[in-house]
Amino acid sequence: MVSSKTSQLLTRIAKEGRKNLLETEAKSICLDYGIPVTRFELAKSAEDAVRFAGMIGFPVVLKIVSPDIVHKSDIGGVVVGLKDAESVREAFKQILSNVTKHNSKAKIEGVLVQEMAPPSTEVIVGAIKDPQFGPALMFGLGGVFVEVLKDVTFRIAPVSDDEAREMISEVRAFPLLKGYRNTPPADIDAIVGILVNISRLVTEHQEIKELDLNPIIVYEKGAKTVDARIILE
Ligand code: ADP
Ligand code: MG
Repeated sequence: MVSSKTSQLLTRIAKEGRKNLLETEAKSICLDYGIPVTRFELAKSAEDAVRFAGMIGFPVVLKIVSPDIVHKSDIGGVVVGLKDAESVREAFKQILSNVTKHNSKAKIEGVLVQEMAPPSTEVIVGAIKDPQFGPALMFGLGGVFVEVLKDVTFRIAPVSDDEAREMISEVRAFPLLKGYRNTPPADIDAIVGILVNISRLVTEHQEIKELDLNPIIVYEKGAKTVDARIILE
């Protein structure tokens, strides 16, 4: 069944004439489709941010939320590893100042306070809509594997459990998911679940032109999406 929560959200965004979803919107859709994301709250003031950080638990990450900023860390819009209230207050101000310096007209919705996911193996799940074949899914390991080595794999949606498992095992970096040095083996089933759920999302919502979960941090048990981007047609 097509999820009505996501339908309503996408309809409202389309009516507003926006194409780039905010991280809060993209992550709400992920949650609606059973995809794990880092816990988040949108702060409108530094005091909000401190309060939310206390609720979520330190350390936290702060990120700019603006329809005018797509690549947040490029402009100093992301600060990770904030361990106390004072550093949250400072990061809040620093982010707003960085954003304003970059684009004084940027519309600012607020600053996202997020649970800081502990480091582990990073993977990327993406989707693009091919004019001929419709939505296709992408999978790869994060960082240099995607950016430098282009070690990624694609499938036309919808993908089954078995196809998702195949995608994961056919990237060259696959052995890294089985564990190395201090890194435990990654929860492959959790990645399969995310691929299948994203497949369902982009099949049911063909107005999605591009989707990027980059990165997803994968643990021995479970996974957390720390950044989500969705672009509409
Ligand atoms: P963007 O891709 O727009 O620059 P991200 O949200 O991906 O911004 O943040 C940049 C980087 O910061 C991520 O690739 C990740 O390494 C780190 N990061 C962001 N959010 C978190 C989080 N909640 N927990 C841990 N690391 C994070
Ligand atoms: Mg990112």
